[in-house]
Amino acid sequence: MNRQDAKGAEAEGRSEVMDLRITKTTTPRPRVADANLGFGQVFTDHMLLIDYTKGKGWHDARVVPYTPFTMDPAAMVLHYGQAVFDGLKAFWNAKKGPVLFRPDRHLARLNRSSARVCIPPLDEAFALQSLKELVRVEADWIPRTTGCALYVRPTIIATEVALGVHPANRYTYFVILSPVGAYYKEGFNPVKIIVEEQYVRAAKGGLGAAKTPANYAASLLAAEEAHAKGFTQVLWLDAAEHRYIEEVGTMNILFRIGDELVTPPLEGSILGGITRESALHLARQWKLRVAERPVTVDEVVEAHAAGRLKEVFGSGTAAVISPVGELHYKGQRMVINGGKVGEWTQRFFDTIVGIQYGTQDDPDGWTVPVGA
Ligand SMILES: *Cc1c(COP(=O)(O)O)cnc(C)c1O
Repeated sequence: MNRQDAKGAEAEGRSEVMDLRITKTTTPRPRVADANLGFGQVFTDHMLLIDYTKGKGWHDARVVPYTPFTMDPAAMVLHYGQAVFDGLKAFWNAKKGPVLFRPDRHLARLNRSSARVCIPPLDEAFALQSLKELVRVEADWIPRTTGCALYVRPTIIATEVALGVHPANRYTYFVILSPVGAYYKEGFNPVKIIVEEQYVRAAKGGLGAAKTPANYAASLLAAEEAHAKGFTQVLWLDAAEHRYIEEVGTMNILFRIGDELVTPPLEGSILGGITRESALHLARQWKLRVAERPVTVDEVVEAHAAGRLKEVFGSGTAAVISPVGELHYKGQRMVINGGKVGEWTQRFFDTIVGIQYGTQDDPDGWTVPVGA
């Protein structure tokens, strides 16, 4: 998309803010008790839709009753995978009521993902305002129980009806909402992960830094094989040398080596997690030593052997912080911190969760009220 098109889309986006149409359902869905909520199984009463047509930009923003799409079998997304998504959460915050966690960062990332697969950008201010509006309409769906949340899934798909590989001239942006249960129902338990030696998730120059469905298709087989061996997830290595640590399935990975917090840098093959960004920000506030630098799997093995691998944890919206208790590589089993949650891991978890639910101060304004 050229600059003029982008500007046109933006201008249209802004003008549409005022006429976001809201159609309420007449048949509300049954609620599920917080204690029975899983992840991504239950959806709310409404969704947000915005269409894009080449030459016209984004148009027809509307909140409508949740309903299946009718799709032409030749819709381009079904053939060439031109799509992006994001994932964030709304919380019932003790101080502010219904809030979204860092929605600006998530929408900026959605646009970065879009750019990689030739999808036109959304106006971020417009996207934020319409997202708040949707969550405001569905505020009653935000679980009140700490640990539970309303998961928000913005998605863009190519809807042009045509075969032939080229960027589509029509798209649909939609946002659906799903109340989700506590991730740590059985406690904040460390997981077992295995370093993946055969398959790769993403190569530099590829799609790894974009939240686009192809990356998840690429990850399924490795994850299935890991599950069959009793592991929760795989830890991906770089595609070129199989030496550098990248990330876990849907989480970034952080290590406490000695007294330094170390995580791989964002150089094109890793998804830049907002939780990662939040943890690094907190670590710098706390004056911890922080390094975003390449980490080889050998360095991790050596640090473990020397007793310097003190903590390992994943970061991502769904779990927030996920302690790693065991790491397996080439048949070797490395137990981290005696299989118990480490001090830094716990502190990151408690602080981020405290900010989300409003039991801790939020000096950086990460929680954004959806409005009255
Ligand atoms: C979404 C995702 C993450 C985590 O990002 P958050 O913004 O923290 O939720 C990390 N890695 C991959 C591959 C992801 O899809």
